[in-house]
Amino acid sequence: MKKILITGGAGFIGSHVVRRFVNTYPNYQIVNLDKLTYAGNLENLRDVEQAPNYKFIKGDIVDAEFIAKLFTDENFDAVIHLAAESHVDRSIANPIEFVMTNVVGTVNLLNAARNSWKGAYDTKRFYHVSTDEVYGTLGEGTEMFTEQTAYDPHSPYSASKASSDHFVRAYYDTYGMDCVISNCSNNYGSFHFPEKLIPLSINNIKNNKSIPIYGKGENIRDWLWVEDHARAIDVIFHKAKTGSTYNIGGHNEWTNIDLIRTLCKVMDKKLGRPEGTSAQLITFVTDRAGHDLRYAIDATKLKNDLGWEPSLQFEEGLEKTVDWYLANEEWLNNVTSGNYQHYYEDQYQNR
Ligand code: NAD
Repeated sequence: MKKILITGGAGFIGSHVVRRFVNTYPNYQIVNLDKLTYAGNLENLRDVEQAPNYKFIKGDIVDAEFIAKLFTDENFDAVIHLAAESHVDRSIANPIEFVMTNVVGTVNLLNAARNSWKGAYDTKRFYHVSTDEVYGTLGEGTEMFTEQTAYDPHSPYSASKASSDHFVRAYYDTYGMDCVISNCSNNYGSFHFPEKLIPLSINNIKNNKSIPIYGKGENIRDWLWVEDHARAIDVIFHKAKTGSTYNIGGHNEWTNIDLIRTLCKVMDKKLGRPEGTSAQLITFVTDRAGHDLRYAIDATKLKNDLGWEPSLQFEEGLEKTVDWYLANEEWLNNVTSGNYQHYYEDQYQNR
């Protein structure tokens, strides 16, 4: 029996990772540690919350004492660290929260692992989940980010994630801890908080509200289906060599405007509206400050070393995502109304 701490498991990607590990590995004890910020939603995990190999703990990774005690009490065998402040716009408005959670929180976890795993570093793994945004921006050509690309973050979010990556590497180099990092491109899929481009647009189209697009919509992102990311994390967690880094991506670049036009067509079809109806809601708004032009990930190393490849074509994934949001109105209404924040009290405190 292995006991694995997954941080940020109530968030978008974390909930997919928790679900995958709980269901795939009944011999692992999965402990989900999450502060339940606005982005943490335990309703994302309704289907696994009764599983005998799953446990939820509410807590803040910024609280060093709490984290140290947790490691002593629980005796974890491994950490998969996803907890973070993740929204670039929020980081521009309030950078310090990103420094606290993404940098200080990560170092608190590293310290607790370092202290409680002394003498056993070769049997305990610290896996840090990060973003391609640490690499900065690319031109419009064909160049891609590889694991050798120098870090060049531009937003407070990416600067905080870059810093946390450096700390993880420093703990590998300095203390010999078994650390692994992956840097992934933009994810999409179910349980995505509707402040991000795709779920926000789905929700707005559904409600006949305008779809805000930064600048002229020319920024280019690589998109990966979230369940493919969770599968990549599974493969890397189990098979990567100590100290290694892997890029994860979908080989799937879209300008924001082309992506939204495609989404509009899918929504017209699903909602039975004449083609072109949803696209009329597109509204261009002032560009985000310091907006990176293009991200593109070269995930060849992951394919060659560990055999991982994306499983879904984007159009198929987008349709699945739209279907999920249309079929899960209650989830979406609870998130947009703020009601999801009472789920923890109802399920865990008022029992
Ligand atoms: P999210 O915002 O949906 O979820 C983050 C989770 O972390 C939430 O459940 C939140 O409650 C929790 N959290 C925040 N601060 C905390 C704290 N101080 N203590 C404990 N828990 C806290 O984020 P996401 O999109 O699921 O991203 C997860 C990870 O993957 C992040 O590290 C992010 O940088 C990385 N990532 C995200 C993407 C993407 O497209 N979303 C792409 C690549 C990498």
